[in-house]
Amino acid sequence: MKEFICIVCPRGCKIRVNEQGEMEGYGCKRGITYVQNEMTNPKRMLTSTVKIKSKIVNRLPIITSSEINKDDIFRVMEEINKVKVEAPIYIHDVIIKNVLGLGVDIIATRTIRE
Ligand code: SF4
Repeated sequence: MKEFICIVCPRGCKIRVNEQGEMEGYGCKRGITYVQNEMTNPKRMLTSTVKIKSKIVNRLPIITSSEINKDDIFRVMEEINKVKVEAPIYIHDVIIKNVLGLGVDIIATRTIRE
């Protein structure tokens, strides 16, 4: 029996899967899809920060433009850690285009004007 906490909505259902692949505990069908994906090809949005040269802050919050495979998270973090940007940066600016050729951009989630 495997257990998962569904993170698709705030209800956070605890979903159990037995050896036959039968599930129980889900509140809706999205939980079934979530667990199937977690068992085959788990993905996550990645949020982090990059260094920024600015008068106000020294880190700029960023997010991936879409989900990436969990297996790629450490490699993407290595790329993020190499970057240093300079203000001004505007929310939704692309900080890294097509990171590691994954078809996903790294995007600023905050405006830093100076
Ligand atoms: S199974 Fe459905 S109701 Fe339960 S946490 Fe997931 S999305 Fe929400």
